[in-house]
Amino acid sequence: MNKILSLLCLCCLTFFSACNSGSNTMKISSALNADSLIKNIKVLSADDFEGRMPFTNGEVKTVAFLQEQFKAVGLEPGNGNSYLQDVPLVNILATAEKTMTVESKKGKFQLNSYDDYIIWTDKTDENISLDKNELIFAGYGVVAPEHNWNDYEGLDVKGKVVLVMVNDPGFWVDDSTLFKGNEMTYYGRWTYKFEEAARQGAKGCLIIHNTRAASYPFLVQQNSFNTSRLNLDKRDSKIPNADVIGWVPEHIANKLFEVAGYDSTLLVKANKPGFKAVPLGLKLSTKMKVQSTYNKSYNVMGKITGSKYPDEVIIYTAHWDHLGIGNPDETGDKIHNGALDNATGTAALIELARAFKAMNSKPERTIVLLAVTAEEQGLLGSQYYAENPVYPAHKTLANINIDGLNQFEPTKDMIIIGEGQSDLEELLKSVLENKGRTIAFDEHKEAGYYYRSDHFNFAKIGIPALYTETGIDVIGKGKEYGKKLQKTYTDNHYHRPSDEFDAATWTMNGGMQDLQALFEVGQKIANSKEWPKWHDGSEFKAIRSASK
Ligand SMILES: [Zn+2]
Repeated sequence: MNKILSLLCLCCLTFFSACNSGSNTMKISSALNADSLIKNIKVLSADDFEGRMPFTNGEVKTVAFLQEQFKAVGLEPGNGNSYLQDVPLVNILATAEKTMTVESKKGKFQLNSYDDYIIWTDKTDENISLDKNELIFAGYGVVAPEHNWNDYEGLDVKGKVVLVMVNDPGFWVDDSTLFKGNEMTYYGRWTYKFEEAARQGAKGCLIIHNTRAASYPFLVQQNSFNTSRLNLDKRDSKIPNADVIGWVPEHIANKLFEVAGYDSTLLVKANKPGFKAVPLGLKLSTKMKVQSTYNKSYNVMGKITGSKYPDEVIIYTAHWDHLGIGNPDETGDKIHNGALDNATGTAALIELARAFKAMNSKPERTIVLLAVTAEEQGLLGSQYYAENPVYPAHKTLANINIDGLNQFEPTKDMIIIGEGQSDLEELLKSVLENKGRTIAFDEHKEAGYYYRSDHFNFAKIGIPALYTETGIDVIGKGKEYGKKLQKTYTDNHYHRPSDEFDAATWTMNGGMQDLQALFEVGQKIANSKEWPKWHDGSEFKAIRSASK
């Protein structure tokens, strides 16, 4: 980093008056306060917040802290006269046996849990087991009529376990002619694989892990093994679940293929249109003990009522939760502090509130700051909000979601996840261009990031949603350096106990700059005649039209 440039940027952000002529902007910019942002990130990611897992003491502390902060910056309660929205959940702790027995024609052998596979369940039955259930390799486990693809064609998987590949057909062999090429569709997501297997009546579903196709190492899955998982409490729901769901690393899948008399070329053949599922002649047996606890968690919400159109809202979201206490890492640390993910975004909501309150004149539309729960457990808090919106979807102009703020030095670019979706892209672009900055797009479209944070639940009910990530073009150091920084985080700290605040390197200068841009986008929407719209071709456009 160029030292002089770095100082200038810090200067601009802290004492913006020196760099900007608009008096309103001047006041606003000084209201976004780097010191309090950092202070609040430290509070939220401290060990005594225990990794902010719902249903724990860490949740109690986090929810109390956020309510306190929302009140202190002058936000009105966001849900009637309350700052809270109840989110009914069930906590499912499935404890798997140490081994799984595999029977083939040649004999039996055992796989070891954690190392060779990880499994869990979304069911609340006390005992879940596989008892010599047949294993079928079902390619990508996808049924997509619009892509002429059906891995379950003519297949009866009732009482059977399907073994499927993560990501979209074509991905493992770089065939970009299939599906959306390198860009992951919802069919590529692991959640989809389990949902489809359950719809087909399968007893179980195991996904073959490959770091490139999944976009994260198997260790991320291992870290969640035999730990509790949350779901929305849907005791009355008719949506089916498979009994046993989980992952196996690719080398174990290949071992299973070999025992069954096949080999790893099955993973290639599965990319051919018309591929037919392969019964492997293997039988699986294992058990899980399940404990279910029904409880509720909370979304925390505050608002600033708009001066002109009080019933029209812009919603900023950030998930306050993280992974709690898990398996110890190599240093013995068990607390998943989640400093970046997502103490930064949560603390950012407080700064946004402060900035909107500090505007010379109130925003014309209502600004809602919504800290959602249980994102890490499958976007549950935002799903609950989307299914039970406090502000009607058709009166909600936009969602702006923050899931991680740039903890390091400023970048020239900001990355938009979900290219070409809505007018929010042009809005951010114009805000950034005024500052000599640019938008860029996600280079990892194969990772399906558009389906991996809370904005997705807003998009699903038709609300244009903006989700950005830290840019890679680090000022003075360039893109290669920026990419390396991000890779270092993903490889070493993402969803690990070491996602901690680091006073030596976390200047938050970049985050402050990005936050300023997101603030201005919201401010423009709040005071504009135009409502942001989905672009033609977006899968969410029709939902928006229907919700009016
Ligand atoms: Zn996150």
